[in-house]
Amino acid sequence: MTRTLVDVAQEASTCTKCRLATSRTQVVFGVGNPDADLFFIGEAPGQHEDKQGEPFVGAAGQLLTRMLGEIGLTREQVYIANILKCRPPGNRDPQEDEIETCTPWLIEQISLIQPQVIVTLGNFATKFVLQTQTGITRMRGSVYPWHGRNVIPTFHPAAVLRGGGEKGRQFGELQEDFALIKRTLAEPEPPPPPPPVTSLVELEREEQPAIADDQLELF
Ligand code: URA
Repeated sequence: MTRTLVDVAQEASTCTKCRLATSRTQVVFGVGNPDADLFFIGEAPGQHEDKQGEPFVGAAGQLLTRMLGEIGLTREQVYIANILKCRPPGNRDPQEDEIETCTPWLIEQISLIQPQVIVTLGNFATKFVLQTQTGITRMRGSVYPWHGRNVIPTFHPAAVLRGGGEKGRQFGELQEDFALIKRTLAEPEPPPPPPPVTSLVELEREEQPAIADDQLELF
């Protein structure tokens, strides 16, 4: 039987695979629609998220919710998760081994949800998902093909708030990126690839006209 997102979340809720299990209040697995076309990836839960058990519920989360509203979407229609499911103490940067240990949860989330578009929020998620050293300022504003889906990097909402929010330079670019997300979601999904050719013999057989039963008697 295949595991559902609820099964995976249940299993993750007791995870003790890395040191963050000792300092977290709770695991912040992810929230939203298990059939979402749009999947947001942030860095790691902060203080508010650790307390409430939901990603992006602080000031940065409020900006994310507002930007979703600007393109006609609600939090319930999309899926929101982080690379790390537990808060690093004092909001320090995630460490290499913590990321390695935590990534299988994110991979399972993406494989079960099968989103059409993934939005990486900020430098950290963008560099990790697209395996690039290029910073977010240069990466944003474009769509990157990734394992049959589209990845759209944009600024982390917390960085936009630090840069002055609505009055800052990044805000207009964040709005442009959300307009790009909307356009990309509206594009028709490419047709699934044809099944792989397993044997030329099978192909030839398929091309032969079927021999009717009464004709078989002639042989
Ligand atoms: N910043 C993140 O990257 N994720 C959250 O959930 C909250 C703030």
